[in-house]
Formats: sequence, structure tokens, C-alpha cells
Amino acid sequence: MNLKSLLRGEITQQELLNYYNANISYESLEKGINGFIKCYKGIYNIFINKNLSYYKRRKTIIHELAHIELNHLNQINNDLFAFYIDKYEDEADRYVKHLMENQKWKKITIKYYIFAIL
Ligand SMILES: [Zn+2]
Repeated sequence: MNLKSLLRGEITQQELLNYYNANISYESLEKGINGFIKCYKGIYNIFINKNLSYYKRRKTIIHELAHIELNHLNQINNDLFAFYIDKYEDEADRYVKHLMENQKWKKITIKYYIFAIL
């Protein structure tokens, strides 16, 4: 069970969240902040800017899930995270791009991406 299976439509977003011990909150975040993720006592809390469009919210969720899958939050403590933020942001974006590009199921992915990830 991973992000790839979510993008392929083999599992639901909720199933992946349960698997990763993660939950999502929709908050009114500062303009320019799409979302962020925190890990507290083994639970991942994903915060998504509720002012974003539906599509951008979905995209941000995928991005935050990539941070979990790439183990970014366990690699470094929160104080140091700020110094590596660009590296990790790039890595998460590249990972999602890679998952979306190298697949025959791109059409399904996009359909799923827009309509079915809830
Ligand atoms: Zn990020």
C-alpha cells in the first residue's frame, strides 16, 4: 500500500491515511501556504489550506503524502527541518511527478486525481 496504489485507484485516500497513521485538517492558512505536515507521537497531521481550489487541495494532499512515503519527517528533527526544506520540497515534488509521468495509467490517474480522491 503506497502513494502509487492511491494514484492508480487501487486504494482510497482514507485507506492510505489509515495505513500511514495520518489525518487531514482543512484550515485557513496564510496565502502561499498550500499545506504542511507534522508528526506528533507517531501520528502524521496533514494541514491543507481550505482556501485552495479542489484540484490544488488534492495535489497538496498527494505532495504531503509523498513526504511521509519518502520518510522525510523521520530523517531529521523539526528544528533542523527548516534548513533542509527546499531539498525535501523538491524531492517530494519530483517523486509525485515521477509517479504521475511514468505510468500507462496516466488518464486514469488524472481522472482519479480530480474526481475521486476524497
Ligand atoms: Zn512539502
